[in-house]
Amino acid sequence: MKHSPNSLIPLASSLHVDEARKAISELVQELIQESNAIGDPSDIEIVSLDQAIDRILAEDLLSPIDVPAADNSAMDGFAFDGSCLDINTSEITLRIVGTAFAGKAFNGKIQPGECVKIMTGALMPTGCDTVIPQEMTSATEDLKIGFQQNQLKRGENRRLRGEDLQQGKPAIAAGRLLRPSDLGLAASLGIASLKVKRRLKVAILSSGDELRSLGQALDVGSIYDSNRYSLTGLLNRLNLEIIDCGIVRDEPASLKEAFCAAAMKADVLISSGGVSVGEADFTKQIMQELGDVGFWKIAMRPGRPMAFGILKPVAGNHSARKTLFFGLPGNPVAVMVTFYQFVRAALLQLNGAIQTEPPLMQAISEAPIRKKPGRTEFQRAILGRSPDGKPTVKLTGSQGAGILRSMSEANCFVILGHEQGNIAAGDWVDVALFDGLL
Ligand code: AMP
Ligand code: MG
Repeated sequence: MKHSPNSLIPLASSLHVDEARKAISELVQELIQESNAIGDPSDIEIVSLDQAIDRILAEDLLSPIDVPAADNSAMDGFAFDGSCLDINTSEITLRIVGTAFAGKAFNGKIQPGECVKIMTGALMPTGCDTVIPQEMTSATEDLKIGFQQNQLKRGENRRLRGEDLQQGKPAIAAGRLLRPSDLGLAASLGIASLKVKRRLKVAILSSGDELRSLGQALDVGSIYDSNRYSLTGLLNRLNLEIIDCGIVRDEPASLKEAFCAAAMKADVLISSGGVSVGEADFTKQIMQELGDVGFWKIAMRPGRPMAFGILKPVAGNHSARKTLFFGLPGNPVAVMVTFYQFVRAALLQLNGAIQTEPPLMQAISEAPIRKKPGRTEFQRAILGRSPDGKPTVKLTGSQGAGILRSMSEANCFVILGHEQGNIAAGDWVDVALFDGLL
């Protein structure tokens, strides 16, 4: 490896979120190159279209046909030879000699001064290159229409063969996270199955002596493990294969065993808890033996401590590959924020997606927000609309890193940049919608 997560990042100082993202992306790129060198054919699967949603396309999908396959009408109207538009007259009158339906062509020949009534999608009759939409015409007498010459140009309202897609050219590029429209597009080309990347195997575990599984009784000082459930939800949204490694106690032997077991089976391990100051020391020791992991202080809120790096392949590993490791903070909101900000893009990148960044928008803050420059903040908020139709945001109650309700009631993050200071009511702020992402 060119640089390790440890050597790349000075441990003592706080990392800008952008630096952390860059370091993660570089390490993922190295892992991709190493695994390409291994050249594992099981990284690609062929799935039918109805199974392909949210999978990542492994190869360019080349169109086997021209789309549309032939010139056809873009409107309901009348098809005619547009050369008559070149002659200067104000009113054009044409005689209707037949009808062309979608799926039932007009096979006759037209003469000058004639037109064919045509429906959207119907093949252009021989000799016709222009369509006047129905609503621009007036019926002059039986089987005749009239319209003003200056209402359209020659060739208008006609879809040309190969206008959308040309045979042999990519219809969908490799690396696309397949959406419903892509499945429809593939079907429109007569393609019933797609080559997609294998689903990444992602192991999750929660570490902490205070954690209890659902169904167990809560003794004094213990809490239910919620992080595995938020993580499961997040990973399911990405359609990944989840390996649930349960709760692990804060003791070196158990942690080591759990990390090794995960590294055997998974491409990526995501743990939560045990990386904050005071707890990180023995995790660090284990990581020195098992891999190359940096313990970062990130200039962000929530989600300051995070561990990131790789676990070395263990004997019997499913693919003899390194396992990418994210040690997320334990606080329930911090888990979701660090996942959103760092893990999501890394998983998509590792699985070959070309677009990994979620879209951002801007909205007007309804109230002032306190913010210190020098860290990036992810506040939970509800996106709404002002009476004059502008997008607005309002924070959801108390914003503590442990208060999952702030997240549950929200539908977006307000993202306040590193240099940003206090926000006044009425200021525009960056917003990232949860929908479809978190
Ligand atoms: P830690 O990062 O281990 O210091 O944990 C920070 C806070 O998050 C503590 O209050 C933990 O009890 C809490 N926490 C850690 N892991 C979980 C979890 N899996 N589910 C819910 N809360 C957690
Ligand atoms: Mg802990």
